[in-house]
Amino acid sequence: MNRTMNAVFSRLLQAQNIMVCGHIMPDGDCISSVVSLSMGLEKLGKKTTMAIDWKIPSVFSPFPQVGRIVDYSHYSARVEDPELLVIVDASSPDRIGRFERLLRYGVPSILIDHHATNTHFANLCWVEPSYSSTAQMIFDLLKLMEVSYDSDLALMNYIGIATDTGFFRYSNANSTVFEAAAELVKLGADPCLVATAILETRRLEEFFLERDAIDNLRLLSNDRFAYSYLKAEDFERYSLREDDFGGFVGDLRSIATVEVALFASESVRGEAHVSLRSKSYFDVSSVAVAFGGGGHPRAAGFTLKYDGDLEEALQEAVEFISRRLETHPKNTIL
Ligand code: 5GP
Ligand code: MN
Ligand code: MN
Repeated sequence: MNRTMNAVFSRLLQAQNIMVCGHIMPDGDCISSVVSLSMGLEKLGKKTTMAIDWKIPSVFSPFPQVGRIVDYSHYSARVEDPELLVIVDASSPDRIGRFERLLRYGVPSILIDHHATNTHFANLCWVEPSYSSTAQMIFDLLKLMEVSYDSDLALMNYIGIATDTGFFRYSNANSTVFEAAAELVKLGADPCLVATAILETRRLEEFFLERDAIDNLRLLSNDRFAYSYLKAEDFERYSLREDDFGGFVGDLRSIATVEVALFASESVRGEAHVSLRSKSYFDVSSVAVAFGGGGHPRAAGFTLKYDGDLEEALQEAVEFISRRLETHPKNTIL
């Protein structure tokens, strides 16, 4: 039995009014973890606030309870602070946006996360990189707490396990992932509904953006490194936002010769989110950390701030990666 998970369990039992907070630029694991932990705690009689300081990507809005998630401006209008702040799927305090203020105000905090780059910034930290997803940690925690699952809770808990494993394809998709997913499906999660809602709801404009991103594609280091980018004006042309265009970095990695992929999206002029992926041996989380971000060995990211042009600003990271690839023989762990 995991001692830290037990400590989290006891601490949660002591509080009545709990905020569950995810990270900015939320992905499926973040939304799933916030909603399913909150739903589970409510089944134990707790009052919860679901918090993410960012717009929720439209693919997730049809799912149960997602509409309850509040950003900081909604939340700060209220008088009462939570007795306990539970932060999920966030590796550093800047990742929770303006909710970071609650940490500074001294609200007691718990952190539940699976990033190896986690900076352990709460009072009680349960950080376990061997888990595929934070949602899988929530599943183990809610089982320990003897929460009884209905089909909505099973569905919401399943989403994060499915999305953080690339729908059961990535190297983190081990047997415990399939066991957890199977249990959640038995409890009522519908895998086809989740896959269809997330993967089969693309807009035509996303294909136009993809065409622009393909125009910007470059291959380096003997075709082992692929990178591309989109500028703010590209998103504006099709009235899309950066959040509306996920997944392209995975397409770059899918090129047969590619080990490392980098994709940068300029959200506003002078600021871009950089996504990194690797296929089998290059540790992209160390690159992300070197540029002020974080993540996992095979999926990581950071935010780049610059004056002037995005493509120029990217060169430092591009050279950093290609130099590392070129100075190390193929298949050595980097
Ligand atoms: P994505 O490229 O999908 O945005 O992120 C991939 C992984 O890297 C995720 O696990 C995410 O949590 C992490 N990540 C992405 N951007 C950042 C960042 O700016 N800071 C940190 N600490 N982690 C990030
Ligand atoms: Mn996440
Ligand atoms: Mn995650």
